[in-house]
Amino acid sequence: MTIARLIAERFKHDAVLVVGLGLALLVLVSEPLQRFFVYIRDLELQTGTAMLPAAVVLLSALMLHQQRKRHLVTLEGRAVAATLAAAGERARDLERLVAFGHATANALDFHALREATQAHLVNVSGGRDAWVLLRTAAGEWHELGHASATGRALMADELHAAAVAAYEHLHDRADGGEGAHRHGGHECFPMIVGGLVVGVFGVWVEGNPLSIEGRQRQAAAAALLAIGAKNVDMVREIREHSLRDALTGCCNRAHAIETLHVELRRAQRSGSDVSVIMLDLDHFKRVNDRRGHLAGDAVLAQVGQVLRTTLRASDLKARYGGEEFLILLPDTGLAAARGVAETLRKTLEQTPLLIGEHTQHVTASMGVTSAASEELDETAVIARADAALYAAKRAGRNCVQVIEAAGASRADAEACAVAPAHRRTRAPRPAHDTRAAAGVP
Ligand code: GH3
Ligand code: MG
Ligand code: MG
Repeated sequence: MTIARLIAERFKHDAVLVVGLGLALLVLVSEPLQRFFVYIRDLELQTGTAMLPAAVVLLSALMLHQQRKRHLVTLEGRAVAATLAAAGERARDLERLVAFGHATANALDFHALREATQAHLVNVSGGRDAWVLLRTAAGEWHELGHASATGRALMADELHAAAVAAYEHLHDRADGGEGAHRHGGHECFPMIVGGLVVGVFGVWVEGNPLSIEGRQRQAAAAALLAIGAKNVDMVREIREHSLRDALTGCCNRAHAIETLHVELRRAQRSGSDVSVIMLDLDHFKRVNDRRGHLAGDAVLAQVGQVLRTTLRASDLKARYGGEEFLILLPDTGLAAARGVAETLRKTLEQTPLLIGEHTQHVTASMGVTSAASEELDETAVIARADAALYAAKRAGRNCVQVIEAAGASRADAEACAVAPAHRRTRAPRPAHDTRAAAGVP
């Protein structure tokens, strides 16, 4: 604040005093002033110049110059303040994007990615209505999140139509990762990974178009989400591969044991049943010996296919060993499990398997057991199923044998009518042998 302004403020309410003071000063200096003006006029006459008008013009020019300078300084100050505000806003934008990037990078499954997206959507879209739809390789669209900052309802059909339109418009030029597509009031940014559009990030811009910075922010958010979505997809694929047996398409042994461990605890909590079938192909060595190991592999792959098509999706089918399979039947009692095994046995027996131009029939022996109500030891359950399987082998193969758990319900025991010979115990084998644990020779 200038001194003049301070004085003006100070004496705002004492105008009379100020005027009085001014007049007094004028009276005080009027005499010397008059003498000064006379002196100047004499000087002007002597020299033939016009000093007084020149001084007035000079003074006016000086004052104008000063005022202009002050104005320029004010404008510059305003420009600096605006630049600082913009820089601050960009820094905050960057912070929000970094937080969003961290959250999406930490998401390892679809559920976590959805939560991260939902939590940051309004922030990264600058307080606008925003939504994200992911596109599967099969062309299906799944909503990852939406946020209505304005309270406007975001209808699923509307978002889907916008995403499809954007995809159709943008996927041809996905390689550059450039551009957005306007559909209705939505500005749609493609989510691109490896040249493929994996989703669309939309913001509502009707009546409030995005600035250049806003567009850059949305494009960056779409890119982060695309990487997050791809990450989730890759983690899912890796998990899937690590759980699956490549030849038969069934789960692997470790996953089967882990799942049985979990299922036994779930069954204990809910009071439901869990049954297990252990299946071994009969005389499979002969198939290999006669037709070669590649033919044997082809047969194993088709057996896996039969298991997957015959059994329920909720049943876990696992390749336990070479030509041994373990099937886990949640919510299934012993009698029902025996029925499932019998159906599977017949289906296998009746299904001709293809080896090149030839067909091959295979049969299987199966052992069935259920967990007792308080049983939590998965090894013991598997050992019992294995023991029943060996009983089936001894009984002539291509058949189903059952061993009930100690303490199984009477109804199950009667329904399954297990031959006493199959529960005979022998001298125990070393602890790692599951068959020995069940007392099977
Ligand atoms: P059984 O079970 O009825 O007593 O007779 P088997 O001939 O099936 O006997 P065993 O279980 O001892 O032999 C299993 C054979 O399965 C041995 C091996 O050659 C074959 N096998 C195991 N894994 C594979 C595989 O991945 N591919 C092929 N081609 N053969 C396999
Ligand atoms: Mg066999
Ligand atoms: Mg075997």
